[in-house]
Amino acid sequence: MTIAISIKDLDKTYANGVEALKGVSLEVQQGDFFALLGPNGAGKSTIIGVISTLINKSGGSVEVFGRSVDTHIYETKLDLGVVPQEINFSQFEKVKDIVLTQAGYYGLPRKLARERCEKYLKKLGLWEKRSERSRSLSGGMKRRLMIARALVHEPRLLILDEPTAGVDIELRRSMWNFLTEINADGTTIILTTHYLEEAEQMCRNIAIIDEGEIIENTSMKKLIGELDSQVYILDTANEMNGKPEITIDDVLIHRIDAHSLEVKVPNGQLINEVFKELDKQGLEISSMRNKTNRLEQLFLSRLRNNGND
Ligand code: ADP
Repeated sequence: MTIAISIKDLDKTYANGVEALKGVSLEVQQGDFFALLGPNGAGKSTIIGVISTLINKSGGSVEVFGRSVDTHIYETKLDLGVVPQEINFSQFEKVKDIVLTQAGYYGLPRKLARERCEKYLKKLGLWEKRSERSRSLSGGMKRRLMIARALVHEPRLLILDEPTAGVDIELRRSMWNFLTEINADGTTIILTTHYLEEAEQMCRNIAIIDEGEIIENTSMKKLIGELDSQVYILDTANEMNGKPEITIDDVLIHRIDAHSLEVKVPNGQLINEVFKELDKQGLEISSMRNKTNRLEQLFLSRLRNNGND
């Protein structure tokens, strides 16, 4: 299998002495949907900056599709589409011109550039806005325009730095769908996020970085499987008088109010058994949800283990 990104012992010390990366090693396979997760200041943007040849590293090696970023700057740029956190196109340029200019920068012939521009503006719901100046777009539209621009040369690897920061829930979900679709079509995707739900929804593999060091690097499935319990909130259709008497081992139950319960179920224990018991007591469950995002729980426990608490 081809390796899209190979990072070995990457160090970065900024001019002001901040050690942003301390020996980071990571591999991302071609075709992967990979999350780089971590709190603010952990070093995520610095890693992206080094991969995209915008930040000089202090030590270590970085290869993009088997080629060193030190010696193959042009090839690396062709392979990569990068969506940075900050909106960085001209506010006065028209939407379609922003995409076409980028296509020109990558040397696409005019006809192909126009086709691609139409394709990606349509896919990202911006085609109707093509002749407007970008400053008139909403925040979410600007962010989508950044993605369209990053895709116009159809890079093999798309890197997004906090793609949905400040984007409302509905739009966030449509962006997730879009990214999942282009990943299914073969584009390798790396995203940084501190929206853990985002990583859980989309990504197959994950690395957690904290204070410039990778503290976890595994598959999302495995990580989620490591949680020892899950906490659910159950809403009851009928009113409860007092706490239900549940007799299942290890299940902790806590009444929040007359219509809702918090239930902590250890892994391996079926939630069905809880339902059966509640049913016996005449309680009808009208809805159920996870109390906290599971990844969030795990993330916090990892950071604690790393001495952050
Ligand atoms: P993240 O993207 O995870 O929020 P960054 O990579 O932006 O983290 O930052 C990592 C560390 O490097 C932080 O302590 C940040 O303050 C510092 N840093 C980032 N950019 C610079 C810079 N240009 N000069 C000096 N320090 C920087």
